Amino acid sequence: MSERVNEKMEEMLELLENLVNIDSGSYFKQGIDQVGAILSSEYKSLGFDVHVHPQENRGNNLVIRHPDAVAPKVMIAAHMDTVFPIGTAKQRPFRVDGNYAYGPGVVDMKASLVSVLFAMKTLMESQDEAYKNVEIVLNSDEEIGSRHSRTLIEEVGKGKEFALIVEAAGKNGSIVTQRKGGARYKIKVKGVPAHSGSDHEKGRSAIEEIAHKTIKLHKITDYDKGITVNVGLIKGGTSANTIAPIAEAEVDVRITKLEQIKAVEQKIQEICSDPTIKGTKIEVAGQLNRPPMVKTEKSNQLIRIVQEIGKELGIKIKEEFRGGCSDGSFTSCMGIATVDGMGPIGGNGHRDDEYLEISSLPVRTALLAETISRLTHMNTNEPIKRHLLNIKDTIG
Ligand SMILES: [Zn+2]
Repeated sequence: MSERVNEKMEEMLELLENLVNIDSGSYFKQGIDQVGAILSSEYKSLGFDVHVHPQENRGNNLVIRHPDAVAPKVMIAAHMDTVFPIGTAKQRPFRVDGNYAYGPGVVDMKASLVSVLFAMKTLMESQDEAYKNVEIVLNSDEEIGSRHSRTLIEEVGKGKEFALIVEAAGKNGSIVTQRKGGARYKIKVKGVPAHSGSDHEKGRSAIEEIAHKTIKLHKITDYDKGITVNVGLIKGGTSANTIAPIAEAEVDVRITKLEQIKAVEQKIQEICSDPTIKGTKIEVAGQLNRPPMVKTEKSNQLIRIVQEIGKELGIKIKEEFRGGCSDGSFTSCMGIATVDGMGPIGGNGHRDDEYLEISSLPVRTALLAETISRLTHMNTNEPIKRHLLNIKDTIG
């Protein structure tokens, strides 16, 4: 048994190396499609159907399920894109140092792509029919907001009970059970230009107005309620000696509960409907991009199942509330019980020193496979198969 697992570990790392060494930044279609082609052929060789959803300017999205699957209840979402530009893989290719692997996207989320494939492989090898209860969506634009794949994710989500999102686990192996929702707004202020030397009193400064608005907008922040507002970008004016005729601000809003967005938007509108500098005009545009990922009765049940399996695998799985958004927001918003952070352990995502903790790869793969198995068989009288636990016993 030990030999089989070690063999698998080598296979996993080999595939990971291949994937990491292909640049697949969100805007690099060719690279993403190359990653997709490798994964496609892996899944096909296992007997899975791979449906390619072609895109002109972005990487193709893939939907994968077994031909014998009938109304699968579990969906897995993983992304093939990274945040790194073309040339990064050549500059700093996949590298192993002790228990750590490095390279662009190694843990966000190429190790997860490997993990999902091997979880399916493991289920098939142990003749656990749970592999027929899964539909996998591999998208190409998660790092830039999933604008082109959201509809597909929601389509796959139809009729699903559980969504497992395989972003990296927390450093201590935690799973992500809640995420904030994110909204973006653009504020444009039109002022009245004037020469600041000779006609100062005739001007109406758009910059001064946006400064007032910035202070008021920041006051919407309420840490206790988990609401934050950040005017993160400002530009305006034409020259130092001109009263600014125009100014713009970009605002990032985070919320914890979906219902909070209405009140926040109302406040933004209120603040922006009443210019402090009379004679300036304000326009606001924007919306909620990703709803918050929330806990529900059903997701609590899912969390407990994952934690229980973790215990059996000898790992303590804590819950984490992450501020950043993921595709779990979409599935959660649809009412699907969602857990994120099901991928391997690592850190420093989006940075040059991003790393994967190699020993977590087989453990998290076992966790994923066993979770799928448990979700599939929990309402039947079949005895729970514990075959996957062998993986953990042999990696030490
Ligand atoms: Zn990611």
